[in-house]
Amino acid sequence: MSEWGGEQREQKLSKAEKRRLRKSRKGEERSLEPPALPPPAESKARRVLYVGCEGETTEPDYLNYLNDRFGDAVKQPFRIQPVYTDNGLIPSRAVAAVRKYAPDDETWVLFDRDKHHDIPQALREAAEDGTEVCFSHPSFDLWLLLHFTAFGGSQSGDSGHVTNKLRQADPAYRRFARPSKNVQGDRRTALDDKECAAITHARSLVNQCEYGDCKADRRKVRESRDKPPFRSTDDWSARSGHSAHCQALNRDPSTDVWRLLVSLGIGKPHH
Ligand SMILES: [Zn+2]
Repeated sequence: MSEWGGEQREQKLSKAEKRRLRKSRKGEERSLEPPALPPPAESKARRVLYVGCEGETTEPDYLNYLNDRFGDAVKQPFRIQPVYTDNGLIPSRAVAAVRKYAPDDETWVLFDRDKHHDIPQALREAAEDGTEVCFSHPSFDLWLLLHFTAFGGSQSGDSGHVTNKLRQADPAYRRFARPSKNVQGDRRTALDDKECAAITHARSLVNQCEYGDCKADRRKVRESRDKPPFRSTDDWSARSGHSAHCQALNRDPSTDVWRLLVSLGIGKPHH
């Protein structure tokens, strides 16, 4: 299991982190060591989030885009450490990977509906230790699409239509997933200054949800690395703004990625 991805992502890592990275690349997942806590000066100034990713390209690229564009630009600076493998992780494995990699730190996880069978397990295990969940139904591509346009309509877990809409939404995404799903170069700059639109569009999907009493304003946003107290899986899942009775698999379409941005102070008028 290799973590952190390509060379460019190593630039901001400390020497100790690079040593750990080299180690983890040589070994299997079982040899991964938990990362050391940041030095006290940094821990005061900069929030560090470990984010487990189901995908090995799109999500880590996007998280590094957030680091580069907003990491030092918001009131409370942050750094996101994507945790992922070369071949992707099913949702429950993404939760397990980030819990194992950063057991004492702020942890989040990004995963999609797709056709996965282990989503209830992933949600339960994330709730157990306070790992924040950004679930996308049908896929993370929906979050990218919402930067360019509002979207609605049940997709039944199939991302094909969303991906096609994304290809049509901006020239930079014309060849998205043909074959690469990276978010680099023009695909990054195409997102610039559209984060407020994406958040607005994602919030309206919560408000339009047909299942239960779902309201974006009810979402819970974490503002520090402190782990919130344990809640039931349904209550944890309701941090998305969806009702505790609205099962994640029924939130079609939806994406919780906006909560991560709001938690980081991105997309507010004063930033
Ligand atoms: Zn709902």
